[in-house]
Amino acid sequence: MIWLSAAVSRVRVATGIGLACLPGLVLPSPARAAAPAAAEGQPVLAYDTSRGGGAYGPSMAVDPCFAYYRRVPLAEVARRIRQQGFTCVHLVDYGAEGSRPEELKRFAEAFRAEGLSPVLCLYPGTHSRLYRQHPEWRQRMLTGIDGRCDWRTWLCPNRPEFVAAYCDHVREQMSTGGFDGVQLAEIWFENWGGPLRSGKPNPHYACVCSACVARFKNKAGREVDVRGMLTEPESRWYFKKPENAALYGQWVEMRVETIQDFGRAIINTVRAVQPKACIKVMYMADARVELDGGREYLGNDLDRMVTEWQPNVLTFEDAWQDWLQGGLGAGFVAEYARAYKTRVEKLRPGLFIMSHADIGSRPESKRSVEWIRQFAVETVRAGFGAPAFYEWHVSRLAEPDPAPPPPSHRE
Ligand SMILES: [Zn+2]
Repeated sequence: MIWLSAAVSRVRVATGIGLACLPGLVLPSPARAAAPAAAEGQPVLAYDTSRGGGAYGPSMAVDPCFAYYRRVPLAEVARRIRQQGFTCVHLVDYGAEGSRPEELKRFAEAFRAEGLSPVLCLYPGTHSRLYRQHPEWRQRMLTGIDGRCDWRTWLCPNRPEFVAAYCDHVREQMSTGGFDGVQLAEIWFENWGGPLRSGKPNPHYACVCSACVARFKNKAGREVDVRGMLTEPESRWYFKKPENAALYGQWVEMRVETIQDFGRAIINTVRAVQPKACIKVMYMADARVELDGGREYLGNDLDRMVTEWQPNVLTFEDAWQDWLQGGLGAGFVAEYARAYKTRVEKLRPGLFIMSHADIGSRPESKRSVEWIRQFAVETVRAGFGAPAFYEWHVSRLAEPDPAPPPPSHRE
């Protein structure tokens, strides 16, 4: 789902197939995995069943804003997702008309009727309606782009009015839809790489709005020219000057604190509506790019997200240098496990860890059905609990589409 314009750094090849049955794990037999559709009730995707499936099982993203979901009956979509071995759907919500509470409730009910656990999937910071209604809450980027990066629009979590309005939205979604849980996806500040891109100010770096500048001033205890710090080599505050390393560290820390506060506000809102809600947090796996680079670039501090938010599930999102590779082998998830598994389990014993694969956002990320099933197997083999995928209608699992060819656009 994320789009970051960085060069693909390396290519991995598929690892061999070899299945081993472990206690508490469901692994498809090779014969069953090869079949296009398993018999009713038979799992076709590997996962750790010890938590009972549901939100803790293979999860598929469904974005109601795509026209596909008005063309194919929801009961049919739900039946097909269930038949492929999924136990959970992540219903994507970025505040668009297609995901308003009553509409998402209709989706949630259709999936629940098929035995799937509906989870509200938020992209915090992005809310189409609030973005239109409140230009004063928009993030400000280094070169004046008005809070936009790729498909997302961004509002600033350092605006208390925005955070309150966003939490109101989450409260209404949870009360109306009766979801089993919530996933916080891509809760960060743009943009990977930081203030510089190819030696020039990164146009998608945000946020430098007055609220962010004020919070930073409070933290630094002095007046600082923030734009000069981030963009002007001749400025006395320029972040690349050795004498300003501590100052820039405070800026990075301020961004981390902002994201932590924002996530905490959302999670508290969800728990107030439904104390037993499953809290899923998705973290972009930066291990194969620059381990922990997300702290500086995105305001994402993995350790703090785990210890302070206390999620039930932590999902490692596949980073762009992986999912954009046409020849990516399903075993790449093992590197994520090596980088993070022991570390996060120490921080929060019992944490359920999930993997994530994009399976169709772009032509090069379209994966075969066999690849998808193998990814589930590799996920379990690596010691993670279950796989998650983005997104149903763009994937080969949804084919053949019973209706005429779909333009894959959001309404
Ligand atoms: Zn801001």
